Amino acid sequence: MTPPSVVILGGGTAGWMTACLIAKAWPDASVTLVESPEIGIVGVGEGSTPQLRHFFRTLGIDERDWMPAAHATYKVGIAFRGWSREPGYEAYFHPFASAVDLHTEPAFHAAHLARRTGRDVPAHPDRFFLNSRLAEGSLAPLPSESFPFDATYGYHFDATLVGQVLRDHAVGRGVTHLPRRVDEVVIGAEGAVTHLVLDGGETLAGDLFVDCSGFGSVIAQGALGVPFVSYADTLFNDRAVVMPTPLTDAGPRPYTTSTALSAGWAWDIPLITRTGNGYVYSSRYIDADAAEAELRANLGDTNATARHLTMKVGRVAESWKGNCLAVGLAQGFIEPLEATALHIVQATVEGFVQAFTDGGFTPKHRDTFNRTIARRYDGIRDYIFAHYRLNRRGDTEYWRDCAANDRLSDSLKRLFTCWFTGGDLLTEIAEQDIARHYAPLSWGCIFAGYGTFPDAAKLTAVPTRDDGLDDFLTRCALNFPSHAKALEALAA
Ligand SMILES: Cc1cc2nc3c(=O)[nH]c(=O)nc-3n(C[C@H](O)[C@H](O)[C@H](O)COP(=O)(O)OP(=O)(O)OC[C@H]3O[C@@H](n4cnc5c(N)ncnc54)[C@H](O)[C@@H]3O)c2cc1C
Repeated sequence: MTPPSVVILGGGTAGWMTACLIAKAWPDASVTLVESPEIGIVGVGEGSTPQLRHFFRTLGIDERDWMPAAHATYKVGIAFRGWSREPGYEAYFHPFASAVDLHTEPAFHAAHLARRTGRDVPAHPDRFFLNSRLAEGSLAPLPSESFPFDATYGYHFDATLVGQVLRDHAVGRGVTHLPRRVDEVVIGAEGAVTHLVLDGGETLAGDLFVDCSGFGSVIAQGALGVPFVSYADTLFNDRAVVMPTPLTDAGPRPYTTSTALSAGWAWDIPLITRTGNGYVYSSRYIDADAAEAELRANLGDTNATARHLTMKVGRVAESWKGNCLAVGLAQGFIEPLEATALHIVQATVEGFVQAFTDGGFTPKHRDTFNRTIARRYDGIRDYIFAHYRLNRRGDTEYWRDCAANDRLSDSLKRLFTCWFTGGDLLTEIAEQDIARHYAPLSWGCIFAGYGTFPDAAKLTAVPTRDDGLDDFLTRCALNFPSHAKALEALAA
């Protein structure tokens, strides 16, 4: 089934991603995107997961056709710095898992299990995975023809420029772009949205309305009153201050850096023209001026212009209500630590298209879809919360409160119990069926990366032997080009 007419409210990244996916899935539908240029877009969101590669492939847009235009770089994972003060674990890398890691991942799980159960074996995640090597060597995740494994990667990009690429693509496929403000959402007797009232009084009717109106959530939370499930009890951060700086001479690194500061963390996202920086923090522990000053100091006392943002962290109780689908910030937000927002946009729209095609507005598909999306949000929230709960800093009230926060979901409690009692992490994750949110590799990295092990002094020495892993990964990495050169080739 195809809805005859679709109205998308909002022209941020979520709105244009939705427009592209819907125009592709339902070429016969009439699709209109209305957005207010005065209200504007949030304009941040510069990192992705590997899912975005799948998004561009679905649309048939080649990297050459969008990456240089959006000042994009490759991303092989995230470096976490300063989240732990455990000797030897002051930093670790969370890699996107590549195919070749299937050869090394069993050794990682065996190593952390051995260390958790009292044997002194090296179990820091950085030694085990291909993408950690690519990050270390500033290499692009594009293997030579003769290397028989693909590498997994996401991107960094300028959010505004990506929006323009997607807008051009969507409009080129027949989407109507209406740059107007929506002043009212009109709900009919049956509880469905009938039309939007635009500035000047004109109306815009449709069969399906997609709310991509940002944190304002004009249709879903506003007109339809869909309840909001807050994550504030586990994710304390509710503000961000953003400040771009010039690129350093070393050129763009193929990874995001997340550095713990006094009341949150700072991102460093390298684009081809600049570095995106931001401090995500909790207003309960630091005020906006102090946060801005701390970020400036961390960046080496830059005089770059700062922009302050407020974040509403949580999700709507139902993403699909009646004839409205909420997508993007209108639907929810789990702070940007693992850059998952656009991933959820894509999963939501693709899941919805499938559910609607199969059953139209019937509750059966709608309810299953809503449960699946809510579960995905909660699963990602658990992983992000684990970063805070496992931190080993203890230097400020913020970090002490994060470490002492006991509001773990049942799923997270089981994972923690498994880890601390020397259980089998892979079995636990399989039994809970949560690998689609974060896989065992990621869970292993987060626990091991922060040095969540028994005291080194209590471990039993075991004879060391060369398992060949370092040599194997070093030789794998020889098949990848420099990041800077790969970006140059893309733009040529
Ligand atoms: C600090 C921060 C960092 C982030 N980092 C990342 C990241 O690294 N990776 C990631 O994936 N995501 C990140 N995000 C999230 C990401 O920015 C958003 O998911 C993404 O930009 C999509 O936003 P959106 O389109 O939902 O909303 P917006 O960009 O806010 O767009 C809302 C649209 O609705 C329109 N609108 C609103 N009200 C009306 C009205 N009444 N009439 C007409 N039009 C209206 C606006 O004009 C605008 O076009 C981050 C977010 C924040 C706050």
